[in-house]
Amino acid sequence: MPDISIIVPVLNEEKSIGLFLDTVHPILGDMAFDYEIIFVDDGSTDATSAVIHAAHESDPSVKLVRLSRNFGKEAALTAGLDFSSGEAVIPMDVDLQDPPELIVEFVRLWRDGFDVVFGQRVARHSDTGSKRISAGLFYRLFNHVAAHPIDENAGDYRLMSRKVVNDILKLRERNRFMKGLFSWVGYKSAAVPYERPARAAGETKFSYWKLWNFALDGITSFSTVPLRIWTYIGGAVALGAMFYTAIILARTLIFGRDVPGYASLMVVILTLGAVQLISLGIIGEYLGRLYVEVKQRPIYLVGATTGLEPENAQEQHVASQMNTAETVSLKNVVAGRS
Ligand code: UDP
Ligand code: MG
Repeated sequence: MPDISIIVPVLNEEKSIGLFLDTVHPILGDMAFDYEIIFVDDGSTDATSAVIHAAHESDPSVKLVRLSRNFGKEAALTAGLDFSSGEAVIPMDVDLQDPPELIVEFVRLWRDGFDVVFGQRVARHSDTGSKRISAGLFYRLFNHVAAHPIDENAGDYRLMSRKVVNDILKLRERNRFMKGLFSWVGYKSAAVPYERPARAAGETKFSYWKLWNFALDGITSFSTVPLRIWTYIGGAVALGAMFYTAIILARTLIFGRDVPGYASLMVVILTLGAVQLISLGIIGEYLGRLYVEVKQRPIYLVGATTGLEPENAQEQHVASQMNTAETVSLKNVVAGRS
C-alpha cells in the first residue's frame, strides 16, 4: 500500500500530462515514500488515456481510471478517492496551477498531526477580473446561507488523511460540491499559503455557464435558506397588500368610487407574478436535484482501469450504502461477476 495517493482528474489534457509528471516525479521521488498517481480520465476525446497508458508502461506508480463518459470534475475526484489506497490522499489539477512543491509542506504538517492540510491561494493574479468578482460574490453568498462555511481561498488542492477520505466517501450524494463536502467533515486542518500560477498548458474546462451551474449545485447542496426565504417574502408581501387594501378602502369610502387604476393594477399583477415565478423556480431547483438523488444512479461509471483493481471502487461504494450483512452478500455478487 502506498503512503500517498495523488488524484488527478483529467479532461482532454494530452498536452499537460507529460509536463505534470516531469514536475511531480522529482519532488515525490526526493521525499522517500511510496506513492501512486491516479489519473481519472473524465471522458476525454483526445489522446489523454493513451498518454497516461504509455506513462504507466515505464512507471507502474502511474495508474488510470477511465470513466465511461464525462461525468464532471466532482464525480472524477470521487472516483479517484474511491480507487486510492494511500495513507494520505492529495487531489491535484493537471495544469500545474496547484504547485507540486507544496506537497513537501503538506506532508510535514500531516506528520505533525493535521488530518487536513489545504493550499490557500493568497493571490488570484492568474484569474480574470470578472472571475475574481463572481467568485467573491459566490463565496460571500455561500458562507452567508450555508451552515458550514468554506474558506474562500481554498480549492480542491489539499492533503487528507485516510480517516478523512473514508468519511468523505460515506457521503454518496449525486450533487457533489466537493469543496463543501471537504469542509463538512471537519477535522483538524492547517493552511499552506501559495500564489496560484496561470495554466501551464491547454485551456480551462470551465465556462461561465458551467461555473454558474456549479454555484447553484454548491448552494442547493448545503443550504435550504433559498427555499425557506419565501415564507418571509410572502409574509412581507401579504403585509404590504394589507396596508394597500386599507388605503384603497379608506379612499373609496371618503372620496367615492375611483375608476382609473390601470397603472397600479398592472404593477401589482406583474410584481406578484414575478415573485411567484421566482419562488417556483427555486422550488424547481431543489425538486430537480431531489429527482436526480432518488434515482440512486451511480456517481460515475468506470470504463477501464490501468494498474488498479476494478473492484476497489465498487466495494467501497457498496459498503457505504448497505449494512454489514448485506454488504457481505453483495461483495460476493461483485466478486462473482468480475
Ligand atoms: N476536469 C475534469 N472534468 C471536467 C472538467 C475539468 O476532470 O469536466 C479537470 C481538468 O482536466 C483539470 C482540472 O479538472 O485537471 C481543473 O480544470 P481547469 O484547470 O480547466 O479548471 P480551472 O483551473 O480553470 O478552474
Ligand atoms: Mg486550472
